[in-house]
Amino acid sequence: MSAIAIDTAGWAFAGAAAWTLLEYSLHRGLGHRWTGNAFGREHTRHHATTHYFAPGWKKALAAAPVVLATAAAAALALGPRPGLAFAAGLALAYVAYEVVHRRAHTHGPRGPYGRWLRRHHFHHHFHAPATNHGVTSPVWDLVFGTYARPGTIRVPEKHAMPWLVDGSGEVRPEHADAYVVNRRRPGQPPRRPLGPPLPHAPGDLAPLGEEGGPPLAPVAAARSEEAR
Ligand SMILES: [Zn+2]
Ligand SMILES: [Zn+2]
Repeated sequence: MSAIAIDTAGWAFAGAAAWTLLEYSLHRGLGHRWTGNAFGREHTRHHATTHYFAPGWKKALAAAPVVLATAAAAALALGPRPGLAFAAGLALAYVAYEVVHRRAHTHGPRGPYGRWLRRHHFHHHFHAPATNHGVTSPVWDLVFGTYARPGTIRVPEKHAMPWLVDGSGEVRPEHADAYVVNRRRPGQPPRRPLGPPLPHAPGDLAPLGEEGGPPLAPVAAARSEEAR
């Protein structure tokens, strides 16, 4: 490989790495901290209904100016070829993120990375939304102190991913070591807490009964951060 090709590939890799920081900060900042924006509203909806994803045209409309501005700024700062390689790396990594995130919800894992990514992301969804803002990598969560190692993932019945459960709503055996579905027991009235009122939105998680549940403190902390 020529020196120019290696240099171009290096800038594309740097662009992809820059995306992982953008992925983390957009999710943490606009998705959870300052939610009064289009991204925040769509993301709140994704948390409330995990089967919901913002339409592709909205994503393209938001991503295009960012990629074009990045390409222009990087071309000015680094020169046309490295600048365009950087912007292309960032754009490709963004598209890869969109595919990987959606597939985490719609398709089961195929290997160790897929298994890791799903548990990391579903810990964010169902246990502690103030942690694990990175989806494709844990790097920036580790850097900024928001990394949480997932334990058993307790998925509220209404959010159960199609790949996780069989036709009767039971966790498929191949995922039973890492996931539990919190189901309402027959005859149990909906959304009635067993103990004192919980500090999180009712219905998100099953009440803490003999099925157990996630510890309250991180959930409460996450909710309060989410509400800010
Ligand atoms: Zn998600
Ligand atoms: Zn989130």
